[in-house]
Amino acid sequence: MSGSDALHRRGLMFILSSPSGAGKTTIARRLLAEDSEIMLSVSATTRPMRPGEVDGKDYHFVSREEFHRMVEEDEFYEWAEVFGQCYGTPKAHIRAGLKAGQDYLFDIDWQGTQQLYQKDQQDVVRVFLLPPSIDELSRRLTGRGTDSAEVIQARMDRAKAEISHWDGYDYVVVNDDIDACFAKVVQILEAERMRRQRQTGLIGFVRELLK
Ligand code: ADP
Ligand code: 5GP
Repeated sequence: MSGSDALHRRGLMFILSSPSGAGKTTIARRLLAEDSEIMLSVSATTRPMRPGEVDGKDYHFVSREEFHRMVEEDEFYEWAEVFGQCYGTPKAHIRAGLKAGQDYLFDIDWQGTQQLYQKDQQDVVRVFLLPPSIDELSRRLTGRGTDSAEVIQARMDRAKAEISHWDGYDYVVVNDDIDACFAKVVQILEAERMRRQRQTGLIGFVRELLK
């Protein structure tokens, strides 16, 4: 490893959004498996734990009272009520992680993206995935085999509304070939890590060079 690779840097918040079925989960899983410097942001929720879920890994499971206290005390970057349950991104843990150089992956929609960006523009990198065509999006949703025909139709109806928010992102990648798309997402992450303002160790390093 060269000297410059070891320089301390601030972590970043890497947001991946896409219309449902475009490949966000596939890309996110691969990124988490192959890149040891990024971890999934763990949200807090009031919904009951599902079988197989682990507190602190899948979510921080909290009571409604605790959640409301966290809202009151401004402990969330963003929060939302979904199907009657509350979900939010806790600030304190992520702030400390970012400072220590930890990157976080967010798998959130355009509204959550906007909220996060408003709270912390410097640390946020927004990436939007698009399907190569509407027909291919439909084929992927059907091929995934996880949803009924009604749910697939509802996702297709919502897809165009989600696509219309493409201009709220820093990067847009068309997910045609999965390997090519993944490579592009990795390139974005690598380049963003090298932004001067994230490389907090640079000042001392350059000072040494100039001695
Ligand atoms: P999302 O999380 O955006 O809803 P998924 O990652 O679940 O989407 O992908 C939807 C389906 O499409 C999955 O079955 C996945 O294997 C498949 N898929 C994802 N990317 C590609 C691709 N580039 N080419 C073909 N199939 C893909
Ligand atoms: P589930 O209960 O199935 O795990 O999640 C339900 C919904 O809540 C999903 O659409 C998921 O994206 C959303 N969600 C999970 N965590 C958060 C969060 O921290 N903030 C927001 N805004 N939505 C979240």
